[in-house]
Amino acid sequence: LPVVALVGRPNVGKSTIFNRIINSRVAIVEDQPGVTRDRIYANAQWMGKQFVLVDTGGITFEDNVIEEQIKTQAEIAINEADVIVMLSDVTGHVTNLDETIAKILYKAKKPIILAINKADNPEQRNDIYDFYSLGLGDPIPVSGSHGTGLGDLLDAIVSKFNGNNTTDDDNNIRFSIIGRPNVGKSSIVNSILGENRVIVADMEGTTRDAIDTIFEKDGQKYTIVDTAGIRRKGKVYEKVEKYSVMRSISAIEQSDVAIIVIDASVGIIEQDKHIAGYAHDAGKGVIIAVNKWDVPSKTTTSMQDFVKVIRQEFQYLDYAPIVFVSAKTGQRIEDIVSLVKNVKENQQRRIQSSVLNDLLLDATRITPTPLVNGKRLRIYYMTQVAVVPPTFVVFVNDPELLHFSYKRFLINQMRQNFNFEGTPIKILARKRK
Ligand code: GDP
Repeated sequence: LPVVALVGRPNVGKSTIFNRIINSRVAIVEDQPGVTRDRIYANAQWMGKQFVLVDTGGITFEDNVIEEQIKTQAEIAINEADVIVMLSDVTGHVTNLDETIAKILYKAKKPIILAINKADNPEQRNDIYDFYSLGLGDPIPVSGSHGTGLGDLLDAIVSKFNGNNTTDDDNNIRFSIIGRPNVGKSSIVNSILGENRVIVADMEGTTRDAIDTIFEKDGQKYTIVDTAGIRRKGKVYEKVEKYSVMRSISAIEQSDVAIIVIDASVGIIEQDKHIAGYAHDAGKGVIIAVNKWDVPSKTTTSMQDFVKVIRQEFQYLDYAPIVFVSAKTGQRIEDIVSLVKNVKENQQRRIQSSVLNDLLLDATRITPTPLVNGKRLRIYYMTQVAVVPPTFVVFVNDPELLHFSYKRFLINQMRQNFNFEGTPIKILARKRK
């Protein structure tokens, strides 16, 4: 998918515009707090064209000098994006920082769109003409708070797409292999490709240097997302640790299932968790692959012990299957592919309302609904409203009464009764009208 990056100085409203664009296509707003605080990447679509939207303002570095941060964000956008949207705001007029950003963007041989936020009324829309001085073409007035001008902005964005990114077969199962440098991601890719029929290797995706690889196993086609990002080594941007995290997040967004790779010879570190949390929040399927399983000397309980540690460190991923592999010997590498297929199936699973409501009845009998400040939660009805991830709405007397722990109990009940291995499940509470 094409990547569209939002760039701009602080407070111009990047995250407001980001959320506006994202939420315009999301029917149900989730009321469950995620693991990661803010999402900076999301899939979006306009006029049937899909893209990945990035708020570069959310990518921060150790560096606390604002100007340096913004320069780096702009550099990342130049490297990573297919289309760059520079956002400024009409109330602040053209600032030095705007000019600094514009200068960096001149270097990009990529389409750049200039959008000016906070153009809330006709007078302010008139003021945007100052921004011609940035030399980035016609400024498009938008208002994040009113939602106006977004259609024009989105039209401009999608008009810049090459249109050659529809080559992917719809039936392909898309997965990404995610993890820190040296955990063995490219070794795993090579091992998978060595065992299976490669259909189109290294197919050029978009103007970016992202490359997807397609292979076939037992009549099913799979796409490994962004194998270029997996194979790329020792380039300058690997110095910025967050940068490779960002690339991983982009790959996750474009996948059905993310394989989080952990190095058995090293164990779990903080960065592993950050990326895994992202996959979870994005509602993607997750599989945990412990690689280099040939290295540690083993006793009969080694595997159980490692599973215990993983379950402790990744508590919210209790649904993710764990597979112990060695890219070196090929041990269980094929299991990764079969697991991907299972998880894809599970994330598309639909449960009939009648079956759900039988389950609900049993569940509330086992564990009565909670009593909060003298008021008891009443659940009237439950229905599935979406797949990928499976999303359920429960109609209740008061959504405030459905606490995390009871929600968790319901989710566990569902997992015991239906196969949702590898996929998060979402439950939303709605007041019965
Ligand atoms: P990436 O940066 O995650 O793509 O990691 P690489 O695939 O480049 O692997 C990093 C290093 O680990 C290389 O020296 C590999 O040969 C080695 N390696 C990868 N997988 C295994 C494995 O299963 N067992 C062992 N012993 N070494 C491995």
